[in-house]
Amino acid sequence: MHKLILKPGREKSLKRRHPWVFSGAVARVHGSPAPGDTVEVRAASGELLAVAAYSPRSRIVARVWDWKERAIDPAFFGERVERAVDQRRTLAETGRTDALRLVNGESDGLPGVVADRYGGTIVMQLNSAGAERWRETIAEALLAASGAARLWERSDAEVRQLEGLEPVLGVLRGPKEPDRVVITENGLQFEVDLARGHKTGFYIDQRDNRRLVRELAAGREVLDGFCYTGGFALNAAAGAARSVTAADSSAEALELARRNANLNSQPAVTWLEGDIFQLLRKFRDEGRTFDLVVLDPPKFAPTAAHVTKAARAYKDINLLAFKLLRPGGFLVTFSCSGGVSADLFQKIVAGSALDAGVQAQIIRRLGPGTDHPVALNFPEGDYLKGLLCRLAG
Ligand code: SAH
Repeated sequence: MHKLILKPGREKSLKRRHPWVFSGAVARVHGSPAPGDTVEVRAASGELLAVAAYSPRSRIVARVWDWKERAIDPAFFGERVERAVDQRRTLAETGRTDALRLVNGESDGLPGVVADRYGGTIVMQLNSAGAERWRETIAEALLAASGAARLWERSDAEVRQLEGLEPVLGVLRGPKEPDRVVITENGLQFEVDLARGHKTGFYIDQRDNRRLVRELAAGREVLDGFCYTGGFALNAAAGAARSVTAADSSAEALELARRNANLNSQPAVTWLEGDIFQLLRKFRDEGRTFDLVVLDPPKFAPTAAHVTKAARAYKDINLLAFKLLRPGGFLVTFSCSGGVSADLFQKIVAGSALDAGVQAQIIRRLGPGTDHPVALNFPEGDYLKGLLCRLAG
């Protein structure tokens, strides 16, 4: 088999079972592996550390399939996918929604493989050369384990560029139509655009936090700053908010948000198209106030290289949000930036409160639902962090 031989001393992170091999750790490549081929990863001493998928175009030159010698074949993918899908069967979420993450990449032992279920459709996203190499096998395994009849591929995440992979979109199994499906989450319905929606179509990782907002919303004036297709806004409306204002810069997202409002008989939400950085300033200048503000922005820092700029953006929106809150009001604020740790995010939000001249408390720390596990040996999987803060009354 092809082999990657590491430089002396560079086996440490693999021994801690971190599943990535960085190109700088590799001394030699034995054989001539093609992108996605399985390679043995060996220490300078010759000790076998892992079997992994080779990705010569990426700084992450290999991703670990397993820590022992074993064949990487359809049986391997069948087992791993079945294990991941099976773990979801007993989750409380399974009874509350039909939109569920079935495979969460590295954290489910399948680097580069993401799969979400939207009703009877599976949407698969392959983000690494290794996952790409096994497309058909993974697709078959997903269909077999889930019992779904339809499988879409949405392999258009930006990270694919780092792997030297082109976007791949389309229907792998089952009918092409419809390209929009309606899912139910905690009793609310959302139309999901499988072809053009963000990520695999919907931010299913925010399910629990949307429910939290529903619980907090009664009698409050709510602002949802980055509303996408209305997830938080419609939960606030369903929770008997006094008013709901929701903003997004994408007209396409707002078009779906309005349809979702109709689906759930919530016509009273005010939908605003625009840049939230400007909108928050406008509200501040007009003296508008709210009792609950939700900020769920896109990834400002996909990697550590963008952290400084991202920190300024998080600081800015949270500062403005604190200024718009009435005494006793809630801020529900998130970062889904891999490059921003929970600790750093908390510091940024603390700086925002300080500069806004307000006193606030953390009521709860927030993260994704239990269908998005994070392997302890893969802290990079811990991308979504949030805080529920309350302004002093
Ligand atoms: N909370 C949503 C997901 C938000 S995703 C849910 O639960 O479904 C982030 C959203 O921010 C996207 O819809 C994107 O269009 C929007 N966005 C990005 N930059 C923006 C900006 N500067 N102003 C307003 N919206 C923005």
